[in-house]
This record gives sequence, structure tokens and C-alpha cells, in this order.
Amino acid sequence: MKFIETVVVENKKWTSSLYSLFVEAKNTHFTAGQFTQISLDKGHLFRPYSFVNAPQEGLLEFYYNEISNGTLTPFLSKIEKGMPVWIVPKGAGRFTLAEVADAPILWLLATGTGLGPFLSMLKTAEPWQRFATIVLVHSVRFEKELTHQALIAHWQKNYPNQFYWFPIVTRGSVENIASLRITDLLASGSIEREVKQSLTPENSQVMLCGNPQMVSDVSIYLQSKGLSLNRSNHPGQITSENYWKE
Ligand code: NAP
Repeated sequence: MKFIETVVVENKKWTSSLYSLFVEAKNTHFTAGQFTQISLDKGHLFRPYSFVNAPQEGLLEFYYNEISNGTLTPFLSKIEKGMPVWIVPKGAGRFTLAEVADAPILWLLATGTGLGPFLSMLKTAEPWQRFATIVLVHSVRFEKELTHQALIAHWQKNYPNQFYWFPIVTRGSVENIASLRITDLLASGSIEREVKQSLTPENSQVMLCGNPQMVSDVSIYLQSKGLSLNRSNHPGQITSENYWKE
């Protein structure tokens, strides 16, 4: 793998363990939804992270949790403005809209930092041109983890009849914010009522990103509703990405 040196512009701390690393890099090539590898030692030790920025943006963003016993993030979280970080300039992975068929509704279901690739996709023109309705669900443990609010508010303002945002805070009660897990919220039918459309195999494409158990549980739920996994040899309506292995 070929790494290039980039310079840190900011290592934004959202909460005690949640960060966005911003680096400046030229000549990156990726499709929204893809990931790259990040290294602090010129490519010896590296870990995958999704691009949060859109391909047209020169300032790259990577959204990550500091994992206390992790091999990279305890060091990544200490990185400061002006320090070097190495990345692979070419994106990888098939979690992109190019893999998703057209449908009236695009459901983007994320937990935690799994929000990142969806932000990248929504920063491009493609989803807005292809899907009449876009539903973004973001489930976090605590309210302070509902990050990137300015960006989401911008889409709510600009696409009031196309874009729906459903935050979920599962630990602690917050006024006007759901506390049910994504699976239970979907099963309750409340999102469908709000959007005034049903989630069916005929009208929906669903993308899942984040906690592997959430991806598995929601996939099983969606398959019980008749949707099928989206595979290259067998197109379906459920496209997913696990953010780490259990
Ligand atoms: P998280 O446990 O992934 O929780 C985020 C949201 O997902 C919460 O609202 C949670 O609800 C919900 N959720 C979890 N399991 C679910 C399921 N089966 N179905 C539906 N919803 C589900 O926590 P996080 O704060 O985003 O991430 C931090 C943790 O994730 C770390 O402690 C670490 O273990 C792990 N992590 C690991 C890596 C890695 O590379 N190794 C990377 C990122 C994160 P509840 O509150 O009800 O659980």
C-alpha cells in the first residue's frame, strides 16, 4: 500500500472519546462512502477510517472513537495541528451509492461514528438527484454524541420535503428525541408515519453503518419485511458496512 504524508489541520474533540481528525491532502481519489487507511508511522501500523468529507473537498475528515485499549486511536487522539499523518490517497470499499439501485426512498441508518460515510454521500449531489425521499437515522448512547448538527440543519433547511433526520439517544431521556434502538423504532412504525411512506422492498433502499450487532439485527428485521441483502451477484435492498469486528 502506498501512503502519502498529510498535515493535521485540527483534531476536533466532540466528547471525551469522540473526535474528528481534519487533514489537508492533495490528489486523493475516492467515492463517497469509501474508506482509507490512516497511519502515524509512515504506513507500518494502519487502520481503516471512512472519509466524512466529499470527494470534491480538499480538507479530509475522519470521525473516530478513542478506544482505550486500541492500537491506533489512543495515539491518534493526541495528534495536534501541524503534525504529520499518513494516509492512502485512494479510497476502498463498496459501501457507495454506485452499489445501490434507484428507489423512491433511501434509508440511511447509522450508529455512532457510522454516521461518517453518510455525511460524505449527502455532501455530494448524487443522493439528492436520485432519491425523492432521504431518511437519516443516527443512534447514539448520549445526546452530546449527536455531532455534525450544523450540517444536518443545513440539509433540513434546504431539502424540507426530501430530507428527514431522526436522532436517537438510547441512554438518558432527551425531550423530543427517541430513545428506542433503531430496530425497535423501525418496528414501532413511527418513522414511516412521520415520513408518510412505508418501508417496503418495492420502494426502499436501506444502507446500514456502525455497530456490527445493529447491522446484523436490523438486517434480520428488514429481511423479515421482505427486503434482501444487496450482493454483487444478487442485487437487493440492504447494503451494509460494519464499523469494527466484534
Ligand atoms: P455503540 O455501542 O455502538 O452504541 C451506539 C448506538 O448504537 C447506541 O444508541 C446503541 O444503543 C446502539 N446500538 C448498539 N447495539 C445495537 C443493536 N444491536 N441494535 C440497535 N442499536 C444498537 O457505542 P458507540 O459509543 O458508538 O461506540 C463506542 C463503542 O464501540 C466502544 O466502546 C467500542 O467498543 C466500539 N467501537 C469499536 C471500534 C473499533 O474499531 N474497535 C470502533 C468504533 C467503536 P444502546 O445504548 O441501547 O446500546
